[in-house]
Amino acid sequence: MAVLDEKLIDQLRALMDRITRPVEFVVSLDDRSASARLDGMLGQVAALSERISVRRDDDAHERRPSFTITSPGTGIAITFAAVPLGHEFTSFVLALLQAGGNPVKLDERVVEAVRSIRTEQEFVTYISLTCQNCPTVVQTINAMAVLNPLIRHTVVDGSLFRDEVESRNVLATPTVYRNGELLGQGRMEAARIIAAVDAGAAGALDSGLADREPYQVLVIGQGPAGVSAAVYLARKGIRTGLVGDRFGGQVNDTLAIENLISVPHTEGPKLAADLRAHAEQYDIDIIDGVTASGIDRADDGTLTVRLGGAALTARAVVLATGAGWRHMGVPGEDEYRNKGVTYCPHCDGPLFKGKDVAVIGGGNSGVEAALDLAGVARHVTVIEFMPECRADEILLRRMAESPAIDVVTNAAVTEVLGDGSRVRAIRYEDRAGGGGAELGVDGVFVQIGQVPNTGWLGEAVELDGRGQVVVDDKGATSMPGVFAAGDCTDAPYKQIVIASGAGATAALSAWEHLVRG
Ligand code: FAD
Repeated sequence: MAVLDEKLIDQLRALMDRITRPVEFVVSLDDRSASARLDGMLGQVAALSERISVRRDDDAHERRPSFTITSPGTGIAITFAAVPLGHEFTSFVLALLQAGGNPVKLDERVVEAVRSIRTEQEFVTYISLTCQNCPTVVQTINAMAVLNPLIRHTVVDGSLFRDEVESRNVLATPTVYRNGELLGQGRMEAARIIAAVDAGAAGALDSGLADREPYQVLVIGQGPAGVSAAVYLARKGIRTGLVGDRFGGQVNDTLAIENLISVPHTEGPKLAADLRAHAEQYDIDIIDGVTASGIDRADDGTLTVRLGGAALTARAVVLATGAGWRHMGVPGEDEYRNKGVTYCPHCDGPLFKGKDVAVIGGGNSGVEAALDLAGVARHVTVIEFMPECRADEILLRRMAESPAIDVVTNAAVTEVLGDGSRVRAIRYEDRAGGGGAELGVDGVFVQIGQVPNTGWLGEAVELDGRGQVVVDDKGATSMPGVFAAGDCTDAPYKQIVIASGAGATAALSAWEHLVRG
């Protein structure tokens, strides 16, 4: 069965010379259609290189269909209990190339920390093929498995193993188990995974930062604003560090992007990869998987940014920490987060197949989420605080035409209710005075806007009433030498081109600050 089209095959063929040692797929199948597709796909890939072989052994895995990517003599074991298409196709290709000897591209200090792990680690990651956050986690743990044979990784497509997902109560993707225990859910960077695995290796991560020379400019945040600032600085020959906890930022949370001028259509994960590729073309010190926790300025103007147990210094800093999902702030929201309460419809929608869900918020994101979910869930109720939904006309029209979507307006959610392990209902108040009501749902998708990621700054720089960094028209903040750009600032309109432009402004201002001494 041909599963991959000619275009994909051609793209894969062009990568085959990067495989420099034998790779074996050990595959276990059953009589499900997914097994036939997996068989077909692996056969197509193996036909592209004489270094790739397929060995069928139905007893090799408990989950069928499954296959393990290995290279004889290396101890590498990356298993997909999935037909890794959709967002996971890139994860599959990377795992294949890396098992075949292509170097793992991770920050050197992360590589050292992973290699220093001395105990066996068995990771299982539950994903959906539509989850944009999953590949980052999958690819990070896969890379760890390539670097250290004591680490093994199995990637499980929840939609193929519904009983297992139900019994483990997996209601968010990715969900990662380590040695049988829940490690975490949602996006997780290498540093967090390493810290959970081995305290010694986590120490190695911090000490890897300690030997960094002071930077001329340190950029905090690796979204469009931060990457743009770093590229502008590097092009001026400035020694630049670019730190962050998720390369690409919010663009990872969306699919179609059609207003990035000169790029008529792209997708979030592709744009995130393109941002990285652009930054990597320059002499920028990219430090992944770190979260800034504070900033201080010494009397001589030296700026120190604290990053967990470590710190970096610079003559100027660009803050580009963007924004994150706004929470409802009602009882039950935190308790049931990832147990039915979620902020990512693309990621977690498939886990609610045939179920009743609520989308909180009737703006563009909420209505788009409702339309997406209507294709999977049994029924979707949109709860909007205002008397009307405020989405674009075309979206509202499509929503009105969908028999699977109901809208409740003028409603304020007051509580998320559950049975201790998962969401069962929400309670809301009719703001027009009609009292309260309860709506039985299995999932709650919160889409009520964004809040700036500025809590870590404390009172170091001036923030406005919404927590946004106050900047002037050159991106300068209230702290000398500290500039800011993008969604974390009080600049109007939160869009990619605007964040990128502001990143350039902040970079040029930081450069001017250095030049003037
Ligand atoms: P972000 O993209 O938020 O990046 C900030 C980065 O900093 C993140 O990686 C974050 O994890 C990191 N960070 C945060 N705190 C810290 C810390 N303490 N230490 C280290 N790192 C930290 N815009 C468009 O133009 N077109 C669209 O079609 C579009 N669609 C969108 C769809 C969705 C679902 C969403 C959520 C946004 C969309 N946007 C769109 C908006 C756009 O993504 C943002 O305006 C843009 O990403 C802002 O860039 P930024 O660099 O300022 O911040």
